[in-house]
Amino acid sequence: MTEPTVVISLDLELSWGMFDLSFDDRLLKVARWTHDVGAPNLLNHLTRNGLSATWAVVGAMMRASLPDVSGLPEVRYPHFSKPWFTYVPKEGDELTHPEWFGARLVDMIRQAKPEQEIGFHSFSHVPFGLAGMTRERAVAEYVHCVQTAKELGIATTSFVFPRNSVAYLRELRDAGFTCFRDVDELPVRFASETLTRLGMICADFVGLAPRTIEPSLKEGLVSIPGSLLIRCAADWRKYIPDSSRLRRLRKGLERVRRSGGVFHVWFHP
Ligand SMILES: [Zn+2]
Repeated sequence: MTEPTVVISLDLELSWGMFDLSFDDRLLKVARWTHDVGAPNLLNHLTRNGLSATWAVVGAMMRASLPDVSGLPEVRYPHFSKPWFTYVPKEGDELTHPEWFGARLVDMIRQAKPEQEIGFHSFSHVPFGLAGMTRERAVAEYVHCVQTAKELGIATTSFVFPRNSVAYLRELRDAGFTCFRDVDELPVRFASETLTRLGMICADFVGLAPRTIEPSLKEGLVSIPGSLLIRCAADWRKYIPDSSRLRRLRKGLERVRRSGGVFHVWFHP
């Protein structure tokens, strides 16, 4: 049993996180807010309270502008038939398009004390486990992450798959990464995916105790499943009472203190 450990992992993705599902002004507005306000505020909260977190950042947004992506084989998803970089400004940079690029933001996180870990949230936020993804693209995503890491002096330790869609693990290990966030270990899981999703929404409303997890080895990588996703407070999610969110967090902390293991909380800044 691992001694009591709390892990916080954050998916920092700006517009990269959702453009294939819905691309509109609202997405750009939220991404701009995350760049200018949300992420810096969260960083401030963490450092003021002496906490370190793992920031899983989309590789392409670690740059000041879009690098050469011609080496990335195209993906063809049923839900998004356009070329993957369609919406990304080809000429823009972080000053004109902070909703896509965050080199200065990543610098700010890297300079913070206590130290924050920078991990990778893929290079361009392609979902790895969906039909339409290829092994060639997965490997190319890893190669681009490693190149970016080398150029910026970042370790290739932690990887978070877009939408937690875990695939091509052996290739991830061969690229040099050592651990990844695995899918959440839920307090209850039903045979049907839809029922499980509904169950987790109910768990948020009633404040059900999350599970602690134990790291394990998968394909030579350390798998660290999530314990609890804190949903953003937008749309219908704003009806989840803060008291229920807090209750879940407190129960997780009590459980990890009492029984050991890892309490792994994750969310989007
Ligand atoms: Zn994401």
